[in-house]
Amino acid sequence: MDQSALPDCTPASLDVEAALAQVLDTLTPLPGSEQIALDLALGRVLAQPLVAAMDLQPWPNSAMDGYAFAVSDLDQALAKGLALAGTSMAGHPFTGTLGPGECVRILTGAILPAGCDTVAMQEHVAVHGDQVRLTASVPRGANVRAPGEDVRTGSVVLPAGTRLGPPQIALAAALGQARVVVSHRPRVALFTSGDELTPLGQPLAAGAIYDSNRYLLRAMLQQMGMPVIDLGIVADDPDAVRSAFAAARAQADVVISSGGVSVGDADYVREVFSEFGDIHFWRIAMKPGRPLAFGRLDETWFFGLPGNPVSTAVTFLEFVRPALCRLEGEPLTAPLRVELPLLEPLRKAPGRMDFQRGIVAIDKDGRPGVRSAGPQGSHVMSSLAAANCLLVLPAASGDLPAGSLVEVELLPWTGTPAAHGQP
Ligand code: AMP
Ligand code: MG
Repeated sequence: MDQSALPDCTPASLDVEAALAQVLDTLTPLPGSEQIALDLALGRVLAQPLVAAMDLQPWPNSAMDGYAFAVSDLDQALAKGLALAGTSMAGHPFTGTLGPGECVRILTGAILPAGCDTVAMQEHVAVHGDQVRLTASVPRGANVRAPGEDVRTGSVVLPAGTRLGPPQIALAAALGQARVVVSHRPRVALFTSGDELTPLGQPLAAGAIYDSNRYLLRAMLQQMGMPVIDLGIVADDPDAVRSAFAAARAQADVVISSGGVSVGDADYVREVFSEFGDIHFWRIAMKPGRPLAFGRLDETWFFGLPGNPVSTAVTFLEFVRPALCRLEGEPLTAPLRVELPLLEPLRKAPGRMDFQRGIVAIDKDGRPGVRSAGPQGSHVMSSLAAANCLLVLPAASGDLPAGSLVEVELLPWTGTPAAHGQP
């Protein structure tokens, strides 16, 4: 029997979870940290927990426009009303002293004057001259935001390892933190390899193609905010590959290559790397993807990705991206997956785990579902450009009928027109 016709679930090929676990177990966060201005911290990972140095809210304040009073005066407030003693506006507190039977006009966000514990919303009062009468009862503490209700002084607001997105930045700002301590970002060098690769701007010779993977990798790294060292196109020549690794190891924490990691005659990347460093080479039971090299050279980590563009993208997303997050100190690195029903039947050959390009869309009844984004060959870039998600299909699965629940992983660049496409 022809061995190559066997499905790739033989011991020679590793499953995706096992390979990812090995990568993540091997890597440890880069040492060191830096303190940076909060304005520059978007997308960075906290190296130290953010501890609240103040209460949030800092003062008792009103959640509504209305009238502040002491609930001990409630009966009077409902019967003949309370005397208006002044106004408290956001940033302009009431400075007087509130006596019995008095109330204060208060606006949203304004500090609650001493002696008050409750706010009646303005829709529930009748004002006659200086007399303010409640038209409905309110419980003690109504419409008051208590100090520390959101965050208490001394509490850990964001643990170390949190990636700072817009709400985390806003929370730090609300707590008065002008600077935060973040981890170092891995410096990533990349090169593409192949004699057929042509830089943009040059005419294509017979048999040549444009080097799209360098743009792909650079863009994915830029989207993660990683500093990128682009080492360009490297020829299918062992000396050229040696020089690329020498340059990468001198300046980067991680080096990523595309192409040249299979077992073809012109595949030198893996072979050359193994001259210097420790390397694992895996045939991973995944589609697209399969060959993936992972290794270490002194302090530099190496990921050798396959050259077919969609394989490059998928192996980057499934292995390199979590690895970079881990190096940066982020603990939650597994991609988030949710189950959605197939809007159409799907083709799938049993044997390997498939990462098919898909589109999350809304069906004619307004319900979310998912369908294929088109042809699934590992060289087909147009369906990757049309996709907004990957359908993660287990190795054993075969063809699936419409309505089957499948695991869906949103691509990190959603927001493309396809993300809003109709089925
Ligand atoms: P390889 O992994 O080097 O055997 O390449 C597999 C396939 O991917 C071949 O069709 C290559 O021409 C193609 N390929 C390799 N590198 C790139 C690249 N940088 N950009 C686009 N296609 C590539
Ligand atoms: Mg090649």
